[in-house]
Amino acid sequence: MKYKAYALHNFRSLPQVERNLSAREIRDIEVVGNVLPFKVNNYVAEHLIQWDNYQNDPMFRLTFPHRDMLSASHFHEMESAMDADATKAELKLIANKIRMELNPHPAGQMESNVPQLNGTVLTGVQHKYRQTVLFFPQAGQTCHAYCTFCFRWPQFVGMAELKFAMKETELLIQYLREHPEVTDILFTGGDPLIMSTAKLAVHLDALLEADLPKLSTIRIGTKALGYWPYRFTTDKDADELLALFKKITDSGKHLALMAHFNHPVELQTAEVKKAVKRIRKTGAEIRTQSPIMKHINDDAKVWRDMWKKQVKLGMVPYYFFLARDTGAHDYFAVPLAKSHQIFQEAYQQVSGLCRTVRGPSMSAAPGKVQILGTQEIAGEKIFVLRFIQARNPNWVHKPFFARFDEKATWLDQLKPAFGKGSFFFEEERSAAMTAN
Ligand SMILES: *Cc1c(COP(=O)(O)O)cnc(C)c1O
Ligand code: SF4
Repeated sequence: MKYKAYALHNFRSLPQVERNLSAREIRDIEVVGNVLPFKVNNYVAEHLIQWDNYQNDPMFRLTFPHRDMLSASHFHEMESAMDADATKAELKLIANKIRMELNPHPAGQMESNVPQLNGTVLTGVQHKYRQTVLFFPQAGQTCHAYCTFCFRWPQFVGMAELKFAMKETELLIQYLREHPEVTDILFTGGDPLIMSTAKLAVHLDALLEADLPKLSTIRIGTKALGYWPYRFTTDKDADELLALFKKITDSGKHLALMAHFNHPVELQTAEVKKAVKRIRKTGAEIRTQSPIMKHINDDAKVWRDMWKKQVKLGMVPYYFFLARDTGAHDYFAVPLAKSHQIFQEAYQQVSGLCRTVRGPSMSAAPGKVQILGTQEIAGEKIFVLRFIQARNPNWVHKPFFARFDEKATWLDQLKPAFGKGSFFFEEERSAAMTAN
């Protein structure tokens, strides 16, 4: 299949859009698409979206903007400007103003996690958890289609100064040499597999040649299996990509593709099955992850089926996330209590091989916080929580407690249980900050 992308300027020419969408729906997409990123492609449109019921279709919701993804006032602000024939520049100003009100950088990504090397800020790197460094190769900061829930959305709307990107691998390699505690590097984006194999190989070959004995795992975060499996099958440099994977595993390093799948539909096509098979033949492992989102996958059956299908195809379920507090969060957010219920119900229905999945997890400023469940202790209803990953390694796997709150959707809405004034990690954090 030849890749064809559709965005704001040409989505009306998609035959399925022409056939199905009303003028109002098209207008809504234009209004919201002026603020939030929008891109879809011919594989998603032809093979994943069920157009006979598109208004309730999870893949349609995942890729096409909906008017409720903006607040009524933001929507109105943008639409009236469009109705008044505002210029492109004026629309952009309004869009940027709205974007800044959508919490573009949750969890302190900008300030807290960008490391330095001899006084140089490594803008394309994040180092938050001791063992794992994130790397944002500059050419890998877009995707084969955009998810409407995406927390990396500021990267796609031209907020250039907010973009994490670094062209050279040299600084990264030097950083890894000085940080032998790092065992894992995670290439992320956007989607690094949007890059040509030749470009990707520049980074990966340099890493292999650098001969970093402490580096044991290379991970690549990607949505290409879900949005464009041809990347691994019939694209013109697909075979070279698989050869590159094999070169990595032959070198003795572990290669893990961190594949984003949001719905079992993405696992059904013949093409994705073929792609998974080809990747696994290279010795690479595929681990899977997704957030839970209203309108897309807030149903235990969906998760159960997704994990079962993944294991059947030879993939390893890894993360069940809560949607981050950014962009169209209000549209997608599922309360913590309900998310846990869905997780537990799905988890109870699958075999141990699916239970490698970890969650529900919130990637918050202090770390990845997992909801273990709810309990009633000494007459108080509480959430039992713990860190899967934390800024301070000593916090990991220490249970802590919050007052039960049926509506809470994020860590910052929770209050400590049993009358305590703060969570243990807040006490340690403010102590550390005062000490600085
Ligand atoms: C999740 C995450 C990682 C990886 O953590 P693992 O537990 O090793 O999977 C690394 N860095 C950041 C910022 C993360 O959010
Ligand atoms: S594939 Fe990932 S980075 Fe790209 S739009 Fe979707 S969630 Fe965002």
